[in-house]
Amino acid sequence: MYMSKIFDEFKEYIEETNNLDHASTLLYWDMETSMPAEGFKGHSDALAYLSTETFKRSTSEKMGDFLEKLSAKEEFDALDSDWQYIVREMKKNYDEDKRIPADFYKEYIVAQNESGVAWQEAKKKNDFSIFAPHLEKMIKMTAQMAEYKKPGMDVYDALLNQYEEGMDSATYDRVFNSLKEGLLPLLNKILAAKPFDDSKFKQKYDISSEKAVEKFLLDYIGFSFDKGCTGETEHPFTLNFNSKDVRVSNHFGEDDAIDPMFSAIHEGGHAIFEQNVAEKLDGTAGGSCEYLGLHESQSRFYENILGRNINFWKPIYSKIQELQPEFKDITLEEFYRYINSVRNSLIRTSADEVTYCLHVIVRYEIEKEIFRNHVPVSELPALWNKKMEEYLHITPPTDSEGILQDMHWSDGSFGYFPTYLLGTIYDGMYIEAIEKDLGSIDKVLEEGRIKDITKWLNEKIHRFGSTRKPGEVIQAVCGREVSAEPILKYFKEKYTQIYNL
Ligand code: ZN
Repeated sequence: MYMSKIFDEFKEYIEETNNLDHASTLLYWDMETSMPAEGFKGHSDALAYLSTETFKRSTSEKMGDFLEKLSAKEEFDALDSDWQYIVREMKKNYDEDKRIPADFYKEYIVAQNESGVAWQEAKKKNDFSIFAPHLEKMIKMTAQMAEYKKPGMDVYDALLNQYEEGMDSATYDRVFNSLKEGLLPLLNKILAAKPFDDSKFKQKYDISSEKAVEKFLLDYIGFSFDKGCTGETEHPFTLNFNSKDVRVSNHFGEDDAIDPMFSAIHEGGHAIFEQNVAEKLDGTAGGSCEYLGLHESQSRFYENILGRNINFWKPIYSKIQELQPEFKDITLEEFYRYINSVRNSLIRTSADEVTYCLHVIVRYEIEKEIFRNHVPVSELPALWNKKMEEYLHITPPTDSEGILQDMHWSDGSFGYFPTYLLGTIYDGMYIEAIEKDLGSIDKVLEEGRIKDITKWLNEKIHRFGSTRKPGEVIQAVCGREVSAEPILKYFKEKYTQIYNL
């Protein structure tokens, strides 16, 4: 490939920045997984220093100069398509960041921190009024931030675009509405059916067995332990340095052995994506998937579409019983019904795959009310409860179990929630595409060939990292625009059978 002097220097500059980033990532991982309590100050000071340095480098005049020169026609045309993507992307981010006045940015960070503290207190005390003024400020400042970054774009569309580039509220409206219309009658039928007896699952589980199951499942679905490792945290997450080092965490407890299994499969799905991005993209703006909906489509595909399919467990259930002997008296059929129980519950993070969709739709519709219709903050708890009653037939007894349950709005992450559901909607579309190439997913799973599916996803989605936008991925993989119809079909078929509807 042609390499100019400026391109060489640019690459070196990025590599230096990556080294700082690498150290920050390791500090963060250590902080979350193994740092002793009193090590906090040392770690957070070092982390603050390193991230300030990284930020300075990526917004420096020197960086602006590199991007300017490399965007000039002659230099740009000489780049290969990956580097063209990287330069274009970095230039776009650089210009967006440059439009934010430094004073405003500082004020925003302070407001975010204060709002986070207020949210925690409000949730603990079940008192929305503690959080309300901060929420109001975050709404105002986040809208302002969106205007700086994407001038001329509708504010809510700009926010949505931050998390899933290319998706606007018109698309979200179309797919969410059709999903909602199909799902509400299905849910009503399920709720009217006889619930499963889950008494067998209420027992004490051995934690070291849970950890052995986690390792087994990660390996089974295609997570590479040569390019990753595991840790323990309060909330499970995935962290990547580059495609050669991707780490997942999990939370274990003796009251529940199922949750850690599905967290392992979920985070495993995120990690498999990152482990399989093409090596040549490592350390660049294309080297990690930055689209949250697309990312979530991978974790949820493994967790729900594959992991909650009975055929996933057929080849391995006796192994699971061996590793976690508490399952000895639970049949595969009972296990399968338990992991697919549908309940209208209050909390999004512990919801089943059907009601989960409606939890997200509640949040999406409220965000639209906030940014389009400017509904006053004081009216939001009642609006939340009204929608919960309407869709899930359940009214939160407290705001802590209602509008205060998630932290996202406290730091201004408006437009984030919808990506969770978009991932599920993409998943329905992948089912069709995979079955066209590999035949019935049930059969592939039953024969213990899940890694064939992993390979398919590597080839069609993972290796591109961020260089293909979500809309392009869906077009390339599924050959049509995003639609809720396949996932709706999946829900209907699956739950009609499970609940004998
Ligand atoms: Zn996830």
